[in-house]
Amino acid sequence: MVGCTTVEKPNKDVLFQVSTIDALLAGVYDGEISVAELNQNGDFGIGTFNSLDGEMVAVDGNIYKIRTDGVAYLMGDEEKTPFAVMTFFEPDEKVFMTGEIDYNELQEYLDNALGSKNIFYAFRIQGEFDYIKTRSVPKQSRPYPKLVDAVAKQAIFEFKDVKGTIIGFRSPDYVDGINVPGYHIHFITDDRKAGGHLLSVQMKDITVEVDHTTDFYMTLPKQGDFYDIDLSEDKQEELTKVEKD
Ligand SMILES: [Zn+2]
Repeated sequence: MVGCTTVEKPNKDVLFQVSTIDALLAGVYDGEISVAELNQNGDFGIGTFNSLDGEMVAVDGNIYKIRTDGVAYLMGDEEKTPFAVMTFFEPDEKVFMTGEIDYNELQEYLDNALGSKNIFYAFRIQGEFDYIKTRSVPKQSRPYPKLVDAVAKQAIFEFKDVKGTIIGFRSPDYVDGINVPGYHIHFITDDRKAGGHLLSVQMKDITVEVDHTTDFYMTLPKQGDFYDIDLSEDKQEELTKVEKD
């Protein structure tokens, strides 16, 4: 008899997503997925934590929470998220950009350099940045306000000549309602002590490592507020207010 062994190779090109962006916009700030589960589904990602307590940065297999005090805290396995996007970061290509680049130019340049706008991309930029502006969102208590109202009290952080890592995703326009169409970027410093949701950047001569991500997995809450909210309305206008500078 001839033996046959199947070696299970994990699919690393999966975008693993917890809940939907519109649920977060509607004030669903508590979820069931833990940091331990996120770590099983990626080593790179962004999101937030239960009670909307800060911005999430997942990098090199560690998950950090940047709170409104500006400090990045390393999270333990038990911490939970209402919204997160993770993947195993394995770059497929490198995009080089020379000269001065700001946030809009980064988006325009990548839009042209990437082969298609119809798949997901994870991208990483490591280096020294002339200027970075980030924000974090304050922890909420029940009854939860909508995200647009919670973000009105965001804390802003500015960095000059800072070494760090940009953790970004580009999602297709058709994810409207599920994820953020276009670019969603977070930042963490090299010393892993600060960062946040990226609002503005000035940098020069950068290398963007890009991971083409063609599989998509979404896990929805098993219970809770998600079951009672109305997700039939278009929330693009609120999303723009919440995400942009
Ligand atoms: Zn964000």
